[in-house]
Amino acid sequence: MDHADCIIETAGAHAHAPCVDNGALTRMRQGLVRAYAAAAPGTPFEVTELRWGTLPDDEVEVVVEACGLCHSDLAMWRDDWSRKRFPLVAGHEIVGRVAALGCEARGLELGQRVGIGWFRKSCLHCPACRRGDLQHCVALQRLLVDGSGGFAERVRCHWAWTLPLPDILDPRSAGSLFCAGITAYAPIARHVHPSHRVGVVGIGGIGHLAVQLLRAWGCEVLAVVRDEAQAADALRLGAHRAVLSGSSAEELRRAGGLDLLLVATGAPLPWPALLEMLAPQGRLHLLAMSCESVPLVPAELIPRALTVSSSPLGRPDEVQQMLMFCARHGIAPQVETLPMRRLDDAMAMLEQGNARYRLMLIQDLD
Ligand SMILES: [Zn+2]
Ligand SMILES: [Zn+2]
Repeated sequence: MDHADCIIETAGAHAHAPCVDNGALTRMRQGLVRAYAAAAPGTPFEVTELRWGTLPDDEVEVVVEACGLCHSDLAMWRDDWSRKRFPLVAGHEIVGRVAALGCEARGLELGQRVGIGWFRKSCLHCPACRRGDLQHCVALQRLLVDGSGGFAERVRCHWAWTLPLPDILDPRSAGSLFCAGITAYAPIARHVHPSHRVGVVGIGGIGHLAVQLLRAWGCEVLAVVRDEAQAADALRLGAHRAVLSGSSAEELRRAGGLDLLLVATGAPLPWPALLEMLAPQGRLHLLAMSCESVPLVPAELIPRALTVSSSPLGRPDEVQQMLMFCARHGIAPQVETLPMRRLDDAMAMLEQGNARYRLMLIQDLD
């Protein structure tokens, strides 16, 4: 079958048609897409028109409604990880509506509201994919590295990483669940019982969701925060207690007795004191993509059988579980909303640590 035959476009008459006006629809038919792109590291984002080829059979094309801004976008824009991916179209906390389906795309309908996060394609047949761990695929593609991100009119993604959004979730904030949210949720789903005492270090994009998820999970929640203002925020979000990360090692140890401590900040931390906060058989779990070394002394870990672990985002089925969990418990990312044309301002706010707790950009290109 010719590729062009298996792509289905929506028009305005479709019952659940995405909001595509004539100009945007014309561009879509011509394989053109408008996006905010940075030409080189640290340079401003400017409206650019990209030309895309035919939609691959296993991909989905989504009209972007809103896209959150994450530290990984900032890292890609500054080229902290030397990916050299320019011009860069950033953004990987996307909510939008399905506008076209490749003929092998499964489980999605035209016009359906969906979300897309950091990953864009897995092979579905390597050993990791066969056991369900699509995020560990040997041929894994990431949206910003191997594709084009969500600060654009439209985005393309493999069907397995394009997940339906429950109607009850607000499309103007839910995008952050697809990166920050699943990063917090996956270790909770894998390691945490409701009777556990759990700590969260850092109340930012990931941490503010971790606190809400853990409270709804049934745990006793301790926030480890940098100042009194953040302590007040953490208590409002559902933490039972808060302790300052700059407290003495003895104060931190007394506040501890934790089964799990989630580290959701890349800021320098008192690692030996954090390990002292764990109960026997406790787990320190790393979520922030920091390049700082963590000092580990086996003679201090082994007597109490401590575990140090980490995880990148989560599996697609875990994302779907998390969306339903959030829908049931009224959990939502707390976002500041800006139009996408203010992407440069949003990057500056994120870089200065002024986001409370996620910046959400509303698509304004069509
Ligand atoms: Zn992210
Ligand atoms: Zn694979």
